[in-house]
Amino acid sequence: MSTFALEAVDGTARAGRVATRHGMFRTPAFMPVGTHATVKALHPDEVRDSGVGVLLCNAYHLALRPGLQLIESAGGLHEFMGWDGPILTDSGGYQLVSLGAVAAVDDEGATFVSPYDGARMRVSPEEAVRNQARLGADILMCLDHPVAYGAEQSAVAAATERTHRWAERCRTAHADSGRLLFGIVQGGFTGEGRRESARTVTSLGFDGMAVGGLAVGEPPELMLQLTETVVAELPADRPRYFMGLGTDAELLAMVALGVDMFDSVVPTRLARNGTALTPSGHLSLRNARSRDDLRPIDEACPCAACNGFSRAYLRHLFAAGEILAHRLVSLHNLTHLARMMDAARVAILEGGFSAFRADAEGRLGLAAG
Ligand SMILES: [Zn+2]
Repeated sequence: MSTFALEAVDGTARAGRVATRHGMFRTPAFMPVGTHATVKALHPDEVRDSGVGVLLCNAYHLALRPGLQLIESAGGLHEFMGWDGPILTDSGGYQLVSLGAVAAVDDEGATFVSPYDGARMRVSPEEAVRNQARLGADILMCLDHPVAYGAEQSAVAAATERTHRWAERCRTAHADSGRLLFGIVQGGFTGEGRRESARTVTSLGFDGMAVGGLAVGEPPELMLQLTETVVAELPADRPRYFMGLGTDAELLAMVALGVDMFDSVVPTRLARNGTALTPSGHLSLRNARSRDDLRPIDEACPCAACNGFSRAYLRHLFAAGEILAHRLVSLHNLTHLARMMDAARVAILEGGFSAFRADAEGRLGLAAG
């Protein structure tokens, strides 16, 4: 089944559409993260209003709390959380790096220790796929084994080979149910390692391909260089997902390389800390500069925060510890990124992405490149 329609290529940047059991989303696409089956502070209607077309939820966290059985008996994640659009779930692989010592890994799978009650949860590659299917996800991720930046070459090689064996097992365990299964490229921090992993995972024939194990502290130039190496090996007719990036400049640079999908907690986390994303960079609403500023965050933004509320009011809400501030600025930041992805998409369709990017980077105060 053809799930990805590639609509235009401009340089290496791409515009397309991904079809899922819960409808289609356009690419390039930014996915907000709903770790606990909610995009923090926002009603699903607000998420939809922001222009976001697809969400990421964490199978690992949801399996621990509230548990797969409850979500299944509620009719699946879509019913449970009130979101009827596409959902991608991550497998828990990332938590092997982020949780470090509390997780153990061997060839049979990963053991997670619940941050909530210390309970141990064993997940094999087969279970990772089954768990995500039980949640009702539209896009499932293979269980992978990323490594931290700076890991020994022997550890990188072992984790990458394990990722490949697990990818094959995940593919075998995946029932063809209309759900999509994405493979994840690892390979550490060398071009050779990345190229080989991209070739191996591509040969297994997934519905989409993810670049994993980057944006973990390596220099930004290296991240871009390794992504370029990986993308060159990926099939043109499958969506490409870079796991974990969420600033304007990073997204534009990755779109230019031919990446289609992104996720990050950064935009909503920044919002709750009082930072709004704007075409000219970050705006701190806690800053004294905003105190008497009666303009909206962004006059061109159609979101509810920018239509009815001033920077001065939002600053006041943050100063007073009012929760409406979190909601309004989260809504704005998602709207901002969704609009930027849309504008990039239009530019690609019209063959003007590099001028669009140079203009956007100029406004952000970055050198175009
Ligand atoms: Zn806005």
